[in-house]
Amino acid sequence: MAYREPAATSTPESWCQGISDPISVNARMSSTRGSSKLFLRRADLESRQMAPLAPRFNAKVIKRFRRLLLRWYDGSRRKLPWRGQTDPYRILVSEIMLQQTRVAVVESRYSEFLQRFPTVERLARASEQTVLAAWSGLGYYRRARSLRQAAITVGHSGGFPRNASELEMLPGIGRYTAAAVASIAFNQPVPVVDGNVKRVLSRVAGRDLGDQECWSLAAELLESRRPGDFNQALMELGAMVCLPAGAPRCAVCPVVELCSWRGAKQKSAVSLARKAVLKYLLAEKNGAILLRQRALSDRLMPGMWELPEIAVPADHEPLLKLRHSITNTNYTVLVFSGNRPRAGSARWVPLQRAPRLPLTGLARKILRRIKSGQA
Ligand code: SF4
Repeated sequence: MAYREPAATSTPESWCQGISDPISVNARMSSTRGSSKLFLRRADLESRQMAPLAPRFNAKVIKRFRRLLLRWYDGSRRKLPWRGQTDPYRILVSEIMLQQTRVAVVESRYSEFLQRFPTVERLARASEQTVLAAWSGLGYYRRARSLRQAAITVGHSGGFPRNASELEMLPGIGRYTAAAVASIAFNQPVPVVDGNVKRVLSRVAGRDLGDQECWSLAAELLESRRPGDFNQALMELGAMVCLPAGAPRCAVCPVVELCSWRGAKQKSAVSLARKAVLKYLLAEKNGAILLRQRALSDRLMPGMWELPEIAVPADHEPLLKLRHSITNTNYTVLVFSGNRPRAGSARWVPLQRAPRLPLTGLARKILRRIKSGQA
């Protein structure tokens, strides 16, 4: 197999290896900044170093995760006015606006604000009252004051800081915003973690991750050649697919094959694993394979595609035998070759098209085994 399938009952650690802290601590500070802030920041950075870390996924899983996520992002991202921007000021404005305001509201106000204050210098020269008036309707006015203060600080230091550590020194800019601006505007390979990212990573890992574990895992997964796109892709996935409140759209998720959660809430790790046998039909005709789609009302993996299940006498020899775990059940999976059954809603799908469908992890595993000649 190209990579190890995460069994739903196994802990993420079982398909992970090693631990390291990928966060690069850059405590270099501008000489214009106060020493008390310097000490606070160093303490902050050191505590990040000492916090517990997430396990590291193996290199093949990471590579595949990056590829699947970026391919999806390239083809499915929303068109938003700040997408494609590389001007740090414009990215900063969008990030600050988005902190506590819905995307739909920011969409309509972002361009207006930038028409009024097209550059960081223009914002720095404006009075606080003018900026607050322009912010009207966006709420949380402390953000507008801090943004103006940040613009003034940028003006005094002779330009935008080009890395996350220094961006984080600007008024009102936290770790997330600094990393977002640094990765999108300056291509700095630093991860971002917001609420959406934390949810996605926890589900992929199969357990609730602490803040520092999320930062570490996000750093492990980061595609350093396209850090800005990767960070935006992870956030976009959380906003559009891996939705909160137990309603993720796993059937259309680009990383479903690598996810421990896959739409089902994890059962307690201490629950006893059951054993069961699954029998599937492998029917092929003219370069096509028979697949069926799971009902949208199914609790597990709704809408996903798999081989048709069949009943076969116990003495029949399977074409392929493998083991697979789903939630708290360990399955022995038997695959039999045969013809299309008379009844059933299965469909012929060209073999080349099959991998592009949202297949269940098990179906993908079976097809991969068949393709590699292990049957
Ligand atoms: S498979 Fe489902 S739970 Fe996992 S990341 Fe995708 S949408 Fe979220």
